[in-house]
Amino acid sequence: MGFDDLRSILLSERETGKLLQVPPDLFDRTHAEIAELLKKVYAIEDPLSEEARALIEETIAMKETMHDLFSIRSRKIVALALVHAEGNYYDREEVKRMLPSEKTMFEQVAAGLLACQGTLLKNEKQPLVPAPAPVAAPAPAAPATPAAPAAAGAKTVIVIGGGPGGYVAAIRAAQLGAKVTLIEKEHLGGTCLNVGCIPTKCLLHSADLINGIKNQGADIGVKVTGVEVDFPQVIAHKDAISKKLTTGVGGLLKMNKVAKIDGTAAFTAPKTLEVTKADGSKESMTADDIIVATGSVNATPPIPGLKENPNCIDSTGALSLKELPKSMVVIGGGVIGLELACAYASFGTKITVVEALDHVLPMLDGDLTAIGVAHMKKMGMEFHLECPVQSVEKSSVGAKVVCKNKAGETVSFEAEKVLVAVGRKANTAELNLEAGKLDNDRGRIIVNNKMETSVSGVYAIGDCVKGFALLAHTAMVMGEVAAERIMGKDSVYDESTNPTCVYIEPEAASVGLTEEQAKAKGIDYVVGKFPMVANGRALILNGGEGLVKIIASKKYNEVLGMHIIGPDASDLIAEGALAIRLECTVDELISTIHSHPTVTEAVRECALNVEKRCIHSKN
Ligand SMILES: Cc1cc2nc3c(=O)[nH]c(=O)nc-3n(C[C@H](O)[C@H](O)[C@H](O)COP(=O)(O)OP(=O)(O)OC[C@H]3O[C@@H](n4cnc5c(N)ncnc54)[C@H](O)[C@@H]3O)c2cc1C
Repeated sequence: MGFDDLRSILLSERETGKLLQVPPDLFDRTHAEIAELLKKVYAIEDPLSEEARALIEETIAMKETMHDLFSIRSRKIVALALVHAEGNYYDREEVKRMLPSEKTMFEQVAAGLLACQGTLLKNEKQPLVPAPAPVAAPAPAAPATPAAPAAAGAKTVIVIGGGPGGYVAAIRAAQLGAKVTLIEKEHLGGTCLNVGCIPTKCLLHSADLINGIKNQGADIGVKVTGVEVDFPQVIAHKDAISKKLTTGVGGLLKMNKVAKIDGTAAFTAPKTLEVTKADGSKESMTADDIIVATGSVNATPPIPGLKENPNCIDSTGALSLKELPKSMVVIGGGVIGLELACAYASFGTKITVVEALDHVLPMLDGDLTAIGVAHMKKMGMEFHLECPVQSVEKSSVGAKVVCKNKAGETVSFEAEKVLVAVGRKANTAELNLEAGKLDNDRGRIIVNNKMETSVSGVYAIGDCVKGFALLAHTAMVMGEVAAERIMGKDSVYDESTNPTCVYIEPEAASVGLTEEQAKAKGIDYVVGKFPMVANGRALILNGGEGLVKIIASKKYNEVLGMHIIGPDASDLIAEGALAIRLECTVDELISTIHSHPTVTEAVRECALNVEKRCIHSKN
């Protein structure tokens, strides 16, 4: 498609009033053409005034600031500006409909382009050319969506691992016509459904009910006497939910005609696998493409006395205890440790957290961490920061964790159980990466944003790759990207909209830049904050504990980060992720109506606070 086609489509879209809602794929298809055009325009040298040059420079600078000039939203504006510039066509109404930030960008691009042509557009001061009589609507261009690969059915794909990365990759590849085989050595659903995301959230849901009744019940007129935890039932409920979901994954694989092999795969050569099946038999296998999705396992730190002590457990152990422990020391103040700590604290276990760093939850914005830690302390949890563990000793209680505190003194904490939650490592030890010639860093497979490894036709996704967040949704999206690349689509993995959720009490969620990161990057930013206590729904739900915080670019008003702690934060954060994906400006968040009474209103109020015009709190 050439520029004229693009222009025709835009004009016809304009006629029907759809221009501002153009489907993003239209611009995906025209990306290269627009890029090409802009390059040509920039190359025009004569006559090029200083003013024109400055405008063009500014347009180019905008490219860096807006992440990528050709992303969905800016492509729309640039394309519109091109149409106006080429046809010297300026419709006041359409420009008036733009939000201030869109208008600024449009004016700068259009002015830059017109300047290149020797006609400097001075916005409103320039006599505007009236909109021409409607042109005959050009025939709509033929859809340019790439056809499904012709020989789709012929392509064979092996996926190693049936966790959220692997099963999603398998289903997506099958949807696109591949003949897919998934090899899983243990349980479908991987860590996430069996010993990770879902089981922890089951425990936390039981904990939420207890907390609601204990902390709020009397205040809101719900008096319940004799609230007690039936711990074996907590675990049984968790097991039942896991089973339902893993069975569902099996059903989805069948529905998509993915063949499943119960077995363990290892490379014997590049793109060649040996699969040891459940019955002990071995089979050599290969395929057109292989996706490695073997996930991660709990890391065990080399602390003397830890391995030998049966009361030292990891997250998997903490999810299958038979009895509720009276006390637990948690080594590590990361997400996994603190989520489990919150659940057990709510059940009545005395929790002591020891952490080597001077803060916990390093992935969260500092303001959120402060609120979260204050709440956990109120729950009775004890925190010992800058207190690295030296050893674990036997104790009649269960285990004794010996640490060195900030002052250099030896301190110790005894508990029935010690939960070791210091991180996870790639689960690639059995894969024989060397034979597969897969570049890796201590077992973490090195990939690019297409999920390609060092071997052509071998992809890796999820927790087993290097450099990305170890999260189920990360693995799932990577799975889609790998499958789509294999099947000829132009997909790439983009981390910028990846939210992190921490299901502590209250929930915390974060997407984009934290204030600390914006500062470190030297970005000129503005901050908006809105306390949950000023939001009616949050006040009802949890007494109004929490905060929304937005980081925005000062110059462009663009949302760069959103951070929420409070009720349903893990659901609310999707708005922040979408805002970043669409390069949303703060005024766009504000001009989007949020329903009342909901916690989402706190997000809009926070956006208002960025512009110091918050209605329901002080600015
Ligand atoms: C306690 C806990 C809580 C968590 N909570 C959350 C959360 O709330 N939200 C979130 O997003 N993430 C959470 N995570 C992380 C999340 O579980 C992982 O990021 C996610 O499961 C990674 O998916 P994956 O497909 O890459 O790997 P996995 O889920 O680990 O799956 C890998 C699969 O590959 C199989 N396998 C391994 N080697 C082989 C082999 N050689 N041959 C055949 N099969 C093999 C394994 O048996 C496994 O089934 C949590 C993790 C833990 C431990």
